[in-house]
Amino acid sequence: MRYISTRGQAPEAGFEEALLTGLAPDGGLYMPAAWPVFSPAELRDLRALSWTDAAVRIMRPFMAGSPLADDLPQLAEQAFASSAHPAVCPLKQLGPDLWVMELFHGPTLAFKDVALQLLGRLFDAALTRRGRRATVIGATSGDTGSAAIAACRDRQAVDIFILHPEGRVSEVQRRQMTTVDAANVHNIALKGSFDDCQDIVKALFNDAAFRQESGLAAVNSINWARIMAQTVYYVQAALQLGAPDRAVSFSVPSGNFGNVFAAWAARAMGLPVRRLVVGSNRNDILTRFFDDNDMSLRAVEPSLSPSMDIQISSNFERLLFELLDRDGAAAAAAMQAFRRDGRLPLDGERWRRASSLFSARRLDDPQTLDAIRTVYDTTGELLDPHTAIGVMAAMQTRPEPDVPLVCMATAHPAKFPDAVTRATGQAAPLPPRLAHLFDSQERMTILPNSVEAVRQHIRRHRRTEG
Ligand SMILES: *Cc1c(COP(=O)(O)O)cnc(C)c1O
Repeated sequence: MRYISTRGQAPEAGFEEALLTGLAPDGGLYMPAAWPVFSPAELRDLRALSWTDAAVRIMRPFMAGSPLADDLPQLAEQAFASSAHPAVCPLKQLGPDLWVMELFHGPTLAFKDVALQLLGRLFDAALTRRGRRATVIGATSGDTGSAAIAACRDRQAVDIFILHPEGRVSEVQRRQMTTVDAANVHNIALKGSFDDCQDIVKALFNDAAFRQESGLAAVNSINWARIMAQTVYYVQAALQLGAPDRAVSFSVPSGNFGNVFAAWAARAMGLPVRRLVVGSNRNDILTRFFDDNDMSLRAVEPSLSPSMDIQISSNFERLLFELLDRDGAAAAAAMQAFRRDGRLPLDGERWRRASSLFSARRLDDPQTLDAIRTVYDTTGELLDPHTAIGVMAAMQTRPEPDVPLVCMATAHPAKFPDAVTRATGQAAPLPPRLAHLFDSQERMTILPNSVEAVRQHIRRHRRTEG
């Protein structure tokens, strides 16, 4: 499979290059040159397979021609085994034709683990095949750092350095990062803010000599391999509910648009998907777009669902590219106008095409707490605030009553104890895999807010051989 950029100016790349570089050189996002399409008979055949075997068939076409495809069965097996649940991502029924698929049984209790556990292993295998090493660096305000660390720990060809603002992440978030006992994991508590952390990461990426010498890399949400891995659970959910002989709808609490775009991709691959419901919090740029063709930037405001406190949904560019019939020049011009004017221009005809598939709902914080309470009162299920937004969005839109609707549960309720307790008076118990959190040794280095200090630290501590 070849990969093309959404901005149309980059040379085509193979799977490994798309994996290792993330962003295309023209600033666009990699997309498969053509969508592999599964016939109904091929989809039906997947029903008889184990989760991993079906996942390999679903992902294999995206890696066609890459030697990594040979490693996929083994790496996928290991990645999915990191779920604490034997079903990997179990489906639970909440009501008539209403389901949740729990994507949060991975090491850090968030859906990002599903894709990152595979991505870390693919990364390692691709580097090893090339005789190269990489230094993954990233900044976190608390939520995403632990999933990246869990993905990179113990990988032979990778070292990972994650910066967090000292004293400004919750204790659980910090301990999820600092209690990881692996020689290639380095936590930096920076004497500064999250923005300072981000600025330092940017400055290091902009230092061409350092970037080269350390093989700097990121595992951020625009990496194609994450989307690829996420298509698996949409296909699995739909098959369990009768696809390809019955259409299914999905509801997805969304921020960077990566998760719900994977549902779109599964549809492009032949899965019968009737409707995609996008849930957002008060940071509602996606809801305004799907409701009114109004994708205009506003300031980011904190909410009870912090992983969706986003204004620029970076993976939306992939949908835009498709809505523009894969015209890279048009997508580049639209993105440029968006950056310049703070508003994405899209003609009504193309927007109508999008809104005939997508619906969106916004819930503010009090509505989010109501949603957690309502679902708990009616079903006994405790939901985290992100998932609750998706479930309530689904219940409010209920597009076609006879089509099963699957809500993607993106975080374990124990990750957001304050909101869950405020809403229900109940705390979700921390699952056994995190029980060690409060009596394990923490490892981190406190550094001053200085690019030079961080650069030196990385130089001293990254391994030069695995
Ligand atoms: C990252 C995240 C989201 C948003 O997913 P996107 O792919 O960025 O849209 C939603 N919920 C939780 C819990 C997350 O961690």
